[in-house]
Amino acid sequence: MKQTYLESAKAIASIDALLLQGELKPGKRATRKGLAGPRRQKNELREWQPGGEWLQSTNGVEVLVEPQWLKLKWLRHGFSSRSGGASKIYAGDDSTGDLNLSWTKEDDAKFVRLNRKRFVAAVAGSGFKLVTLRQTHSGVVRNLDKIRKPMEKAGRAVLRGDAMMTSRSGLLLGIQTADCIPVLLVDVKKKVVAAFHAGWRGTLARIVERGAGTMRLTYGSRTDDLRAVIGPGIGPCCYAVSEDVRIEFDSQFAYAPELFSEVYDSDPIREKYPMLFLTQRAPGHSNIGPQIHLNLWEANRRQLLAAGLEEKNISVLAQCTSCQRQKFFSHRRDSGFTGRMLNAIGIATVRGK
Ligand SMILES: [Zn+2]
Repeated sequence: MKQTYLESAKAIASIDALLLQGELKPGKRATRKGLAGPRRQKNELREWQPGGEWLQSTNGVEVLVEPQWLKLKWLRHGFSSRSGGASKIYAGDDSTGDLNLSWTKEDDAKFVRLNRKRFVAAVAGSGFKLVTLRQTHSGVVRNLDKIRKPMEKAGRAVLRGDAMMTSRSGLLLGIQTADCIPVLLVDVKKKVVAAFHAGWRGTLARIVERGAGTMRLTYGSRTDDLRAVIGPGIGPCCYAVSEDVRIEFDSQFAYAPELFSEVYDSDPIREKYPMLFLTQRAPGHSNIGPQIHLNLWEANRRQLLAAGLEEKNISVLAQCTSCQRQKFFSHRRDSGFTGRMLNAIGIATVRGK
């Protein structure tokens, strides 16, 4: 229930008047301070400052990058935004066009094709082939070095799975998201790259933790040489989940309590007159009470730490897709009617290196 301060004050005044008629005394609890925005409670262990650097390509596409990774001349990576595309369907009238990068049913395929071309050019330049997956919110990691059959058919992904890994140059691994968390991983010595799709199900299936383990097993990667970036996705500010999700995480991770926070909607009337809102339902079964927010950035950071990465080698960009309407698509915010970003990584062939 969203109310303005004025509306709340009016409602309280009318309840006060009713109580006075019945010769009851109005409560004294509500204060101006109590009428402020949503309150946060506990588990605000880390400050999440948006990071990364926005690069503007000459073709109009804007890409978010980890600046440290630009020093690796053989590495290509980038997280897309909405800007610089040709799609019209999800954009407001004032927009010049969205960079929708997935074959969504609403969008025209010719725009998606053009958008993908622009994105690959902006992130990787020429000579790269984009590879995507038929993502299913699983824990399945695909090693593209072992795949001999075509990985796509007429531009559409053939492989099912939610993570890809390769040591081959010329492939641009692209994970599609619109709130789920994209994670990019690289072995800077062995030159191996991986991209992960980690929504709550993939995170629960430890896709990132297991993927880092697979890289060590397959390529002999040393944990000191691994670097990871946790890209734009729905943040702890916006990601309300059900009690069932919290129970599932509790059963799988000892640190689960640190991933959740309770967020209370500020409701001045309820605060001043709690007796009016008493419920006979059992605790946790009432729709009165806090929302539970899940922090998938932190959950995936913890998995990378568990896989042996050093804290300084994990970069959390902390860009919330739901908060930033101009920048990102958000499935949750836009009730499913939205485009998709691509989060990509690949290996270039560089002479003499
Ligand atoms: Zn947010």
